Amino acid sequence: MKKLLFTILILGATAQFAAAPEPMSAPWGFWGHQRINKMALFTLPEDLFGYYKPNIDYVTAHAVDPDKRRYAFADEAPRHYIDLDHYGKPPFENVPRKWNDAVVKYSEDSLMDHGIVPWHIERMMYRLTEAFKQKDMNYILKTTADLGHYVADAHVPLHCTENYNGQLTNQVGIHGFWESRIPELLGEDFDYYTGKAEFIPDVNAKVWEIVLESNSLVDSVLSLEKILSTEFPADRKYAYETRGASTVRVYSKEYTERYNEMLDGMVERRMRESIITLGSFWLTAWINAGKPNLTGIVMRPWTADELKEMEELDASYSKGTLKGREHEE
Ligand SMILES: [Zn+2]
Repeated sequence: MKKLLFTILILGATAQFAAAPEPMSAPWGFWGHQRINKMALFTLPEDLFGYYKPNIDYVTAHAVDPDKRRYAFADEAPRHYIDLDHYGKPPFENVPRKWNDAVVKYSEDSLMDHGIVPWHIERMMYRLTEAFKQKDMNYILKTTADLGHYVADAHVPLHCTENYNGQLTNQVGIHGFWESRIPELLGEDFDYYTGKAEFIPDVNAKVWEIVLESNSLVDSVLSLEKILSTEFPADRKYAYETRGASTVRVYSKEYTERYNEMLDGMVERRMRESIITLGSFWLTAWINAGKPNLTGIVMRPWTADELKEMEELDASYSKGTLKGREHEE
């Protein structure tokens, strides 16, 4: 926290804008989440990949369902982030790594207030393992897509800090800048070849490794943009783009490219790490379920209740009223 405050004091003095309206951007982008889910499927060994192959499009398209769910349920938002610095300093050894121990120490309400992404990923791993055991393809696919979303979110530095949108350092908008604008503008040129998924013996330890690393990158994410914003011509920082019927303000291409250079490939690296870790989680759940043979097991038609639930999800999403905290997609 002290380090962060120090950064605020030094850089705050040179800030050029006071409360500029936030540039529009979609989350990890729909683009980023979908790319991560899709590429992660290609890290899987042949047999497991084969079971997924007819449904690559499902796993890709539904990578963004958890963000849609944030428009329907208030309890959804905390599953996407953790304000690690709320709890003290790295490596946050005071925070119990196991959910039950954390609940005893902080209470469930308090944990929900500051985000639960590491624990939620473990919960989803449990559910995916059960889905594999039951050989229920619908549930497997749904849980596979959802897990992908949370694993990708956990790799985003600004999902692992209280200053999640630069709101404490006069950098409002940086959340979408890092996780959406950069991948959407430059992501086609990223290298997504990561090698093959591997079994993860300790899921809890791996999840904590991810969020601790994300948190350790927060300082660079914020301080580099702060430096850039002071040296870059202010009138070229933003551009205007047409989205449907409206014109929105975005970070300019030049500004985005410059920030990406300063980050030295961090966004690409975190996307790649999301992909290989996600593939490895899916593989691990399947192995822990006893490597069930799913040959010939296909999706059944969704039940009326399931369809209704999906329609309601889409309806609340298009209404666009976010429940819970904003900017934490
Ligand atoms: Zn999210």
